[in-house]
Amino acid sequence: MSDSKHTHRTFSFELFPPKTDKGIQGMRTTVSHLNTLQPAFFSVTYGAGGSTQDGTFASVDWLVDSGIETAPHLSCIGSSTDEILEILGRYQAQGIRHLVALRGDLPSGVGLGGSGELGYANELVSLVKQHFGEHFHIEVAAYPEFHPQAPNPKTDLDNFKRKVEAGADSAITQYFYNADAYFRFVEDCRKRGIEIPIVPGIMPITNFTQLARFSDSCGAEIPRWLRKRLQAFGDDLQSIRTYGSEVVSRLCEQLLTGGAPGLHFYTMNRAEPSMEIWRNLGLS
Ligand code: FAD
Repeated sequence: MSDSKHTHRTFSFELFPPKTDKGIQGMRTTVSHLNTLQPAFFSVTYGAGGSTQDGTFASVDWLVDSGIETAPHLSCIGSSTDEILEILGRYQAQGIRHLVALRGDLPSGVGLGGSGELGYANELVSLVKQHFGEHFHIEVAAYPEFHPQAPNPKTDLDNFKRKVEAGADSAITQYFYNADAYFRFVEDCRKRGIEIPIVPGIMPITNFTQLARFSDSCGAEIPRWLRKRLQAFGDDLQSIRTYGSEVVSRLCEQLLTGGAPGLHFYTMNRAEPSMEIWRNLGLS
């Protein structure tokens, strides 16, 4: 494919906190492989309401101790301001300078309780700015196909702007398979005076059933042509991976050629799918 240069672009990888010893070992091996690509940072997801809090801290500690640039995710829904400030203080003391600030989603069946003081991500961004000034580079989430709870695209864009006005430095998008949705979203943002970099989130395709379940819950669309193709492979995982890698590599190429300021890979703690796309793009 293309010989896209990655100067001045930000490439990053997202991890989730593993729950078992095997998972921890797997994540560490994944990081050692992906780190050879010299990404700008690794981010680590965080369960809203603190559901995977300890796992996030353990993964972040290991990454920081390994000398790897780390951006912990932090969600505000279901946590008190004091709890959030304590976590931010901990990250500051560890020398962390990069955060992904989110509202988060509570796991189904978990009520808000009385402790959630911040309702939306823009309030979290304001809190970080108020207490830590310029210490953290703050990433926020963006939705080229719009957030599933937003009443309409205009309101969602207005709400995205609130995060930027509160002090977000850059954004990472929900994954998508339609490059036009991204380019139109960026265009709409620029028309509203939103100038921060908006880095596409990339979900490699390795398992159709899992992807379809995820996409339904987060509001990311799998276009009909892609869904039909993937469905037709049935249990043939190898063909799903080969075809998925081709499709996602092409998407990334379109995005970078069209001016995307980098790529953020949802790795699902696996190195090879992202590395294959990376090789297809001629990035290494
Ligand atoms: P917000 O920006 O607060 O938006 C949420 C909804 O509320 C939108 O519909 C928006 O239009 C509306 N809204 C926003 N502000 C206001 C306001 N002031 N008044 C009224 N309405 C408003 N989830 C996790 O739990 N842990 C993670 O680690 C995690 N990482 C993620 C990383 C990325 C890159 C992305 C794209 C998503 C991630 N998520 C994660 C999922 C995310 O938490 C959910 O999509 C969540 O539903 C919204 O979070 P947000 O930060 O975008 O919320």
